[in-house]
Amino acid sequence: MWTACAGPRDPVGPGGAPRGSALYQYSVIDALLAGVFDGDLTCGALKRHGDFGIGAFNQLDGELVLYQGVAYRIRFDGSVHEVSDDQRVPNAFATVFAPTQTIALPAGATLQDLQAELARRLRPSAAYAIEVRGPFAAMTARAPEPAKPPYPELAAHLAAHPHTFELTATHGVGIGFWLPAYLARVNIPGLHLHYLADDHKRGGHVLGFRGDGRLEVRVMELSGVNIELSRRPELDQIDLRRDRQRDTQRVETGDRRPAGE
Ligand SMILES: [Zn+2]
Repeated sequence: MWTACAGPRDPVGPGGAPRGSALYQYSVIDALLAGVFDGDLTCGALKRHGDFGIGAFNQLDGELVLYQGVAYRIRFDGSVHEVSDDQRVPNAFATVFAPTQTIALPAGATLQDLQAELARRLRPSAAYAIEVRGPFAAMTARAPEPAKPPYPELAAHLAAHPHTFELTATHGVGIGFWLPAYLARVNIPGLHLHYLADDHKRGGHVLGFRGDGRLEVRVMELSGVNIELSRRPELDQIDLRRDRQRDTQRVETGDRRPAGE
């Protein structure tokens, strides 16, 4: 059900459904996949574009969660730390979150169930910010170990240093984005979620979950996507023509097989 939420940040689209803020993103996913693990955007600058978002940190030192205006780092040892505004990121995505739609998932729903429900309910041409509030009976999350230069490609780094957390009976929130296929070279198509436990002690990039009871999903249709391009010289050293969809899939699903298998 749509609930009206008109305002300066919520222009009503041609279809009549309310829309929220634009997605702000720094750099492009193909650069991260290719091993550009450093950027110049600070967390302080990221927060000027939103209170809700996800991303990575320089050197790939943990997963970034921006929730209710506070930025957190989830390290490869599973610990969660609030980060200072001077920390820099190679890639990040943020918006001002003002949900316009709520979806209830039945008891025991999984990540796959959520993906199916979003695919059924949301317009394939549109982009959305997504918040999934648990309790979760099970949550599988991941955070990367910092890389040493010269950096490998992302999928190879994650496969060589797997740090996956199997959380049980955890309360918290999954936050992220549901993006159309045509954004594949600049962002992750489909669902990309990071988890932050309510006690701020666990989290990570979401690889799977099972809800404990009913899960509430809050959705905001994004009004657009604004990309700030990284000016790091490393971007000019990578092959930006290569199709990295297989890498995206490996990274997203936690598949550790070498490329080509
Ligand atoms: Zn992620």
